[in-house]
Amino acid sequence: VFITIEGPDGAGKSTVIEKLIKKMSHELNVDIVTTREPGGIPISEKIREVILNPTHTMMDERTEALLYAAARRQHLVEKILPALETNHLVVCDRFIDSSIAYQGAARGIGVEEVRQINEFAIEGNYPDLTLYLDVEASVGLSRINKGRSEAELDRLDKESLDFHEQVRLAYLTLLELEPNRIKKIDASQSIENVVDTCYNLIKETFPS
Ligand code: C5P
Repeated sequence: VFITIEGPDGAGKSTVIEKLIKKMSHELNVDIVTTREPGGIPISEKIREVILNPTHTMMDERTEALLYAAARRQHLVEKILPALETNHLVVCDRFIDSSIAYQGAARGIGVEEVRQINEFAIEGNYPDLTLYLDVEASVGLSRINKGRSEAELDRLDKESLDFHEQVRLAYLTLLELEPNRIKKIDASQSIENVVDTCYNLIKETFPS
């Protein structure tokens, strides 16, 4: 089973994933592989460094989108698919929907264009379930600004409120298109409630 966790910056993805995995490991009799994008394996972590390096101010938007797709491809082939083949439950922090929301919608490349290069990269290997942590852009942004490094704040500064609103709208549109795969969770609730809701959705979708 392939599960992805999605959401705008400040939705609390990392904390939720950490607690969710702990709960799943305790309560479910299944081998879990947790991973993240962009990254997850050495080649893709290298690509992540290139993409997220704040000194790379000349990075073209389409170059960036291709790098995300390349990182995703290698991560899928080298880590996700082998784990699924050996019956692991894979939980991945971000996947194709992030590219559609960030590069396609918010960076303005175009949702269809970005979907196309990503479909080339994933060859039909869509997640079985996507948990979308929904938070209003202003709430997400105010959470981010607590406890992040100067370099990170600089980069996020460029991604204005408007940018984050576009990211969220793109996710909400994806949700309408694929209600069976993508489930929305209200991430303005307490972390415990968000984790419980995620856990229950996983159990409902994949009983036993
Ligand atoms: O979720 P995480 O904090 O790892 O994401 C790191 C950053 O990468 C986010 O701030 C987001 O702005 C950016 N990102 C992006 N496009 C993606 C995935 C992540 O711009 N497809």
